[in-house]
Amino acid sequence: MKAWQDKIRSVVPYTPGEQPNRQNMIKLNTNENPYPPAPGVRQALDSFDEDRLRLYPDPTAGLLVNTLADYYGVGKDQVFVGVGSDDVLAVAFMTFFNSDKPIFFPDITYSFYPVWADLFRVPYEKKALTEDFAIRPEDYYPANGGVIFPNPNAPTSRYEELSVIEDILEHNQDVIVIVDEAYIDFAGESALKLLERYENLLVVQTFSKSRSMAGMRIGFAIGHPDLIRAMNDVKYSFNSYTMNQTALVLGAEAVKDEVYFKECVNKIINTRERAKAEFSSLGFTYPEPGANFIFVTHPEYPAQELFAALRAQDIYVRYFNQPRIDNYLRVTIGTDEQMTALFNFLREYMR
Ligand SMILES: *Cc1c(COP(=O)(O)O)cnc(C)c1O
Repeated sequence: MKAWQDKIRSVVPYTPGEQPNRQNMIKLNTNENPYPPAPGVRQALDSFDEDRLRLYPDPTAGLLVNTLADYYGVGKDQVFVGVGSDDVLAVAFMTFFNSDKPIFFPDITYSFYPVWADLFRVPYEKKALTEDFAIRPEDYYPANGGVIFPNPNAPTSRYEELSVIEDILEHNQDVIVIVDEAYIDFAGESALKLLERYENLLVVQTFSKSRSMAGMRIGFAIGHPDLIRAMNDVKYSFNSYTMNQTALVLGAEAVKDEVYFKECVNKIINTRERAKAEFSSLGFTYPEPGANFIFVTHPEYPAQELFAALRAQDIYVRYFNQPRIDNYLRVTIGTDEQMTALFNFLREYMR
């Protein structure tokens, strides 16, 4: 072993879902939106002045921040934007989780949380979800260094009512509570409503799912101005020009077209309802889905076997070889045509 080797930081990285690129594949493995971004995004791209790329973008990301502040009816000093919500969440971990006490998050959740915790040397404790994958608010009552969970949760798709979120907030007023709302547009009420009452709440959302822009990398957080100021201080200590010029312009366009946005979200919700019925008729069970994916298990067919059989047909879904969920598949809701192809195959395979 060379002397410099033991000075190299070694970490266990997050494993992103595979990004296959095959003709005619059916890609239901990373919860992308099957529909294109708003038509205004196409127009903005067509009229984009490439000479603008000579210059640095606005480090405050003003255009996007202002557009989001208007849309959500909050102050411009309450919005932080980043390169996907992964970037926003990483900055939030650095900014808010600095206690000797462990942060709390569910045992089954977004698998990036333990990775960031390890990277930033934040102690953490996982709180077991119930048998049916519900969060037990009491688990989050003991003293801690902060709380983070997605709502709806991933990969279970289960949505918790705001009363559950508020219960956790009520018992955690001395730490920052982060609600990762990557999938909230497909579910129920957002925790944004609780911001007035809880200045220690940070709500994080993304353009990657409901706004069809995973490739553009835009995420944002909304919270009390003190929290946003602290996050910006960390951002400017790390990388000032996070949002590129195209992301600023195209992101703002996507937010402006609310009609198109709602239409896409409703189409996906309708397809999800149909998918529930089809999975049930094949004997699958699942927690009630609140996101643009469904977390299914079957009493006879092992998930890993189904995963491989689907993959051989170029139908990609997600399988997690992890305790408690290793007999489940996470299936993104695609177009009706894509779901028809999936169910046609499954009906044939499971005969
Ligand atoms: C997809 C996802 C994210 C990250 O999305 P970005 O593409 O980085 O915006 C964050 N949290 C959860 C729970 C997700 O599923």
